[in-house]
Amino acid sequence: MYLRRGRAGRSGACPALYLLFMAALEKTFYLETFGCQMNAHDSEKVVGTLISQGYRQVPTVEEAGLVLYNTCSIRDKAEQKVFHRLADYKKLEAQGKKFGVLGCVAQQEGAKIFERAPYVSLVCGSASYRKLPEMLTQIEKAGAGKRLRITGLDDRETDECFETEFTARTNPHRGYITIIEGCDKFCSYCVVPFTRGKERSRTSESVLVEARQMADLGYTEIQLLGQNVNSYCDPQGKRTFAELLAAVGAVPGIRRVRFTTSHPRDFGKDIVEAIDVTPTLCDHVHLPVQSGSSRVLDAMQRLYNREQYLEKISWIKSARRDISMTTDVIVGFPGESQEDFEETLSLLDEVGYDGVFAFKYSPRPNTPAIRLEDAIPDAEKSRRLAVLLETQRAIQQRRNLKHLGEIVEVMVEGKNEARRQWIGRTSQNKTLNFTAPDSTGVETGGYVHVGVTTAFPNSLVGEMVI
Ligand code: SAM
Ligand code: SF4
Repeated sequence: MYLRRGRAGRSGACPALYLLFMAALEKTFYLETFGCQMNAHDSEKVVGTLISQGYRQVPTVEEAGLVLYNTCSIRDKAEQKVFHRLADYKKLEAQGKKFGVLGCVAQQEGAKIFERAPYVSLVCGSASYRKLPEMLTQIEKAGAGKRLRITGLDDRETDECFETEFTARTNPHRGYITIIEGCDKFCSYCVVPFTRGKERSRTSESVLVEARQMADLGYTEIQLLGQNVNSYCDPQGKRTFAELLAAVGAVPGIRRVRFTTSHPRDFGKDIVEAIDVTPTLCDHVHLPVQSGSSRVLDAMQRLYNREQYLEKISWIKSARRDISMTTDVIVGFPGESQEDFEETLSLLDEVGYDGVFAFKYSPRPNTPAIRLEDAIPDAEKSRRLAVLLETQRAIQQRRNLKHLGEIVEVMVEGKNEARRQWIGRTSQNKTLNFTAPDSTGVETGGYVHVGVTTAFPNSLVGEMVI
């Protein structure tokens, strides 16, 4: 890329014109991704699909013939942000670029995107990605002004998952495998069932084939993904989720298996038992609680109460292995009283989480909760969020201090040159920055043992032990 720019410079041509010329000749695309890990992994599949169709990925909008946004609509007026971004790029239409909107905002807004941004050529919802190759062919053949939209209900109703052999994996050591797509739970605040469609699982056989292929390619860590990964239901009925975890963990060459996100309702003791007996399964469970108040959980339609959630936590705590626990919390759900909020704070303390993702409630289109009065002012939501994060910070500091003096294995994720520290990740999914005497034997993607010397709320520090 940069070489080509250099050549244009030497021949005296304007680099911008040169880039435009190249973009017109070649099939190039730029892809920007927002949102969760599932979206990031969908983007890996989209990139792989485009490359298999002869496209080349470029790092800037300027260099691209096709500009794609993979969007997320889970919170925070996501749709408005997408329209603002598209407005920014309207001026580039004259350069012959084509624009596409993918993901949950595409699914949610559908034809409205063409109404507000007529220069967009492609709108493809997350439930329809398996149709991307044929859509790309049509876009290429189509002249200016042609628009394609695939966001229909039919696509959300399909039993097919977006499986592709052309996944362009961005992390050379940790590979992601989506084992279940969509969601049938319909929590009252959540847009996912409307954007990602009904729950559908891949066969465990196909998951294992992919896991073995990844091990052959040199991946040592696999993360199984799903909106509710543990609601997994093998279409061939061969394996439960816990059995699939154990089977992926037994693939030769795989040293670590993670899974996210688990729904408390479908969280069985067999998952904890699988972690206990399968050394390659990581010591970490992410189990979103959303609220510590049974009254609010009922209004959220989570279909469990505080006591039932805490029972599942007790299974994790009584495991033979020391399993770290993280969660998601929403503050300021309509009707959440100060007492309800305090119940959430007390739950954080009672569980003793190692990490919390906390969000202010954000009303979402189509969801039942949008009909409830969003009575809690934003300033109050912000206050509760700040209190919650402060409470959790102290809990994390306490939790992390317990690691002082331990020797733990980390996967090396990179190096912070400024601090002269390597960055590692523990099985418990904690960041452990460490120094190594002469860096011998340390390489990104490798595994080393580190003695923990310092604990902060969000990370640990240590020294490599030989
Ligand atoms: N399926 C998972 C579960 O049920 O726990 C969660 C998946 S969801 C994509 C990720 C997180 O986004 C949720 O756990 C929730 O905390 C948050 N979230 C979803 N809808 C939200 C909303 N309307 N406002 C604020 N946070 C929201
Ligand atoms: Fe959304 Fe609830 Fe489904 Fe999770 S379980 S994706 S929060 S509807």
